[in-house]
Amino acid sequence: MEAGADVYATGNAEHWRRRYFEILKAREQEGQAYRTIENLLRRILARLCSAAMGRSAELDGELKRLVGALLDGTKMEELETLLRPLSETVTVVERVRSDTVQVPVVDESEASADEPVELRIRSILGRVLTLVSQSEGLAEPAREIGQQLQMPLRPDQLPVVLSDIADLMDRRVNDVEGEKRAIEELLAQVTAKLDEITQYMGHESADHQAALDGTREFNSSLVAEMSALGENVAEAKDLEQVKLRVQAGLDIISVRVHQFREREESRVRSALERNERMRVRVEALEREARALQERLHDEQRLSMVDALTQVPNRRAYEARLNEEFKRWRRFGQPVSIVAWDIDHFKLVNDAFGHRAGDKVLRIFAETLVARVRTTDFVARYGGEEFVMILSGTARQETMQLVEEIRQAIAALGFHFRSEPVSITASCGVSDFRELDEMDSAFERADAALYQAKAAGRNRCMSG
Ligand code: GH3
Ligand code: MG
Ligand code: MG
Repeated sequence: MEAGADVYATGNAEHWRRRYFEILKAREQEGQAYRTIENLLRRILARLCSAAMGRSAELDGELKRLVGALLDGTKMEELETLLRPLSETVTVVERVRSDTVQVPVVDESEASADEPVELRIRSILGRVLTLVSQSEGLAEPAREIGQQLQMPLRPDQLPVVLSDIADLMDRRVNDVEGEKRAIEELLAQVTAKLDEITQYMGHESADHQAALDGTREFNSSLVAEMSALGENVAEAKDLEQVKLRVQAGLDIISVRVHQFREREESRVRSALERNERMRVRVEALEREARALQERLHDEQRLSMVDALTQVPNRRAYEARLNEEFKRWRRFGQPVSIVAWDIDHFKLVNDAFGHRAGDKVLRIFAETLVARVRTTDFVARYGGEEFVMILSGTARQETMQLVEEIRQAIAALGFHFRSEPVSITASCGVSDFRELDEMDSAFERADAALYQAKAAGRNRCMSG
């Protein structure tokens, strides 16, 4: 949440609250004024009633009840129930008087004696009417009663006028109550909207740090709207204007919030789309990397395997020799090296063709592999020459093994063009020895192979 927006939003809410409480206070003061006027009216009316006594016993009874009720603080509605029979009684009494003694309704001398009081009553009633007329809809009836107050009131008119004014006051009190409720509702609405905005701002700001600039811009426009709203409210002349201006201000703010939310949503949408594109791209890259890795692995494997015989090639042999030599240096376990060479292989090629030669090479390789342990190593060194690394096998033991292999090869029984052809091979055997270089054992084995050839082939010699 932006500190500025928060402070401002709270500041405006505070401003509005103050404004509404001022209006409420004014209404309460107005109510107080009504109550003061009402008390005054009650007292005047009681005095009038007392002054009016002595005309008729019936009327005196009604007036006494009314005086008692006025001084007891009986409610307006109940006073009305007393006023109605009173005005009827007054009418009856006056009619009887005029019928019998032909006396005018208001005696001139009495009227002149009561004139200051009567005038005061009319002036107070006029002030009451001015207050009452502030409500829309009450102005017209208040004006009509006001016109009646321009002329001196006859005693029989007074209860009717008072009753009419009491009605208007009731309606005015209801209006004031209604306005008070409306202000409370409006205040609740404004507070709820402000809370919503504050909450939204909080979420948005926390979630989208990246949109700081946009948020700042939004905040300042919100602050401007809030401040304009505050000024409008301050200038409002009455509650209706306050309501209209607050509503208009809130509508503008709602639009701003809506626009901001739309902008933010589109920003988030494009961020999601970017993420999705990125994810797809990364996935493709991962697939490519995997394929490349597999290809490299294949190539590496191929680069270490002899294509014709499918046994490791000379490069693989070099790598394996390196490992075995280091291990032997460390642990000192016996390691034998065997160098094989097919006898008179050139003749095979020459006599039966290259393809026949290839077949011999494949079968020769298979035979070597089949006859050693899986932990041993067989490689095609080149041409018709093969090499073995027998780890953990001492030279004597190796001599027995290669002798068996040599015999097995001799016994393979090849047939070319239906002709049985005997293929033999010779080998030289050596082992890792103290002070050896990595190739020393192979060189001795190769020398022993040479000796085996020289000694007549189809034999194995140790070197
Ligand atoms: P020696 O008993 O002294 O070893 O005689 P040799 O004929 O086996 O030896 P030499 O080195 O004279 O001939 C090796 C022949 O092996 C020559 C070459 O044509 C053949 N050769 C080498 N590589 C291949 C191959 O991959 N396929 C075939 N078919 N022949 C090959
Ligand atoms: Mg050779
Ligand atoms: Mg050979």
